[in-house]
Amino acid sequence: MRTVPHWIGGKPAEGRQTGPIFDPSTGSQIATVAFAAQSDVDEVVAAARAAFQSWKRSSLAQRTRILFAFRELLDRNTDELARIISREHGKTIPDAKGEVARGLEIVEFACGIGEHIKGDNSPNVSTGVDSFSVRQPLGVVAGITPFNFPVMVPLWMSPIAIACGNTFVLKPSEKDPSAGVRLAELWAEAGLPDGVFNVLHGDKVAVDGLLTHPDVAAVSFVGSTPIAKYIHETATAHGKRVQALGGAKNHMVVLPDADLDLAADAAVSAGYGAAGERCMAISVVVAVGAIGDQLVAKIADRIPAVKVGPGDASGSEMGPLVTAAHRDKVRGYIDAGAEAGATLVADGRDIDIEGDGYWVGPTLFDNVQKDQTIYTDEIFGPVLSVVRASSYDEALDLVNSNPYANGVALFTCDGGVARQFGLDVEVGMVGINVPIPVPVATYSFGGWRNSLFGDVHMYGAEGVRFWTRGKVVTTRWPDPSHRGVDLGFPQNK
Ligand code: NAD
Repeated sequence: MRTVPHWIGGKPAEGRQTGPIFDPSTGSQIATVAFAAQSDVDEVVAAARAAFQSWKRSSLAQRTRILFAFRELLDRNTDELARIISREHGKTIPDAKGEVARGLEIVEFACGIGEHIKGDNSPNVSTGVDSFSVRQPLGVVAGITPFNFPVMVPLWMSPIAIACGNTFVLKPSEKDPSAGVRLAELWAEAGLPDGVFNVLHGDKVAVDGLLTHPDVAAVSFVGSTPIAKYIHETATAHGKRVQALGGAKNHMVVLPDADLDLAADAAVSAGYGAAGERCMAISVVVAVGAIGDQLVAKIADRIPAVKVGPGDASGSEMGPLVTAAHRDKVRGYIDAGAEAGATLVADGRDIDIEGDGYWVGPTLFDNVQKDQTIYTDEIFGPVLSVVRASSYDEALDLVNSNPYANGVALFTCDGGVARQFGLDVEVGMVGINVPIPVPVATYSFGGWRNSLFGDVHMYGAEGVRFWTRGKVVTTRWPDPSHRGVDLGFPQNK
């Protein structure tokens, strides 16, 4: 059986231990993946540290050329990457291609590193004295990524980190690790020197090894909230710069004046796309005023048309969940919602697909209450909950009091209310008639509250800040007129 290797110092490296990889559409094991021991962590960090000594001195022109080449290779290999993603994750091929395209955007942003990293220059801040600022790389940095975007999330981090002059260690999800290694091969083909981009697989041992390693300067994490909190606490306690993006419970507020067909289309697309395994998926629809029955009926009408099947089958719109354990967890939430008294309008537990894949069909609950676990917990599956609210203020309170604050959407045709919502809602990413408002590469991605631990969002200008540290150089070129001892406190003249 094929074993997915680490990628250390520009070449594949075997691991002493391994873990299994499954095809979620069939439930069969298809490969194994290396699992790092502490000695592998030490080896990968040493390789990245050695590469940093020259990479930090590489010219911006050299970095830009490599980034452009990498961009072309990603584009050319999109179909292959999509197949790799779909086989281990289960998402459909078109969805996987969309993921690659959104990652590619960040590479395109990083191609402009010469512009993004420019400092300031102020001549004559004092007589004969000039100041300029530079942003410099941190050193060896690590990216720890979740299963749900095995290409896009590593590309949220690594192109900008590398463009800024850092060397990078990716710890992908052990559930779908092959795409990370393919990215490493493409970086190498693009001309990136050995050791600048590395991949280390594994579980907690690999992660803890990176979080506590004295030669790792910064950690960027994307995953679930409990682990994000743990990563932030552990890595900051070990002196590292950390951004840790966590889970979500994204609300879509539908006002009485909204186009209800557009809203129902959006709820189905954003609720069930990628089987609900997106951090920006809609999981709660808040129906405001008297539109609840009509909106629920429109969503329910659309559900039977959603084509559930293997990710690589033509026409599939929604694939399986990622693991058997996750399928059981999602089914458990549906059991709990029904037992708690929410109205089960569409029951995805009934789905009947041949074989042992990890299937749950699109599920819709109505009349969901705030204390039910289908509302309080991130389910990360194809389960939509409709909550009824009597007013805009009640809906806004609901969103603002939720512990998660990744994304939110408002559906309305009233520009004034939309404008006010954009200002009042306490969530990191807001969509107006846009259900999944993932910012484009020139902005930055990040939630508030339990959806982000740390201060700085991912990619865009905030990404450049995260992966660099600032320095100000104050310069005076000696001139005979400067001579003379002066023990007074230096003042600007
Ligand atoms: P996860 O937290 O289980 O795993 C993420 C990473 O952490 C993986 O690489 C995993 O190997 C590692 N990990 C898991 N348990 C660990 C432990 N005990 N100690 C150290 N490391 C550990 O997340 P997941 O199931 O892979 O991904 C789904 C989650 O990610 C969801 O909660 C989703 O909302 C979130 N997510 C958030 C964003 C965002 O931008 N906010 C984006 C994508 C996914």
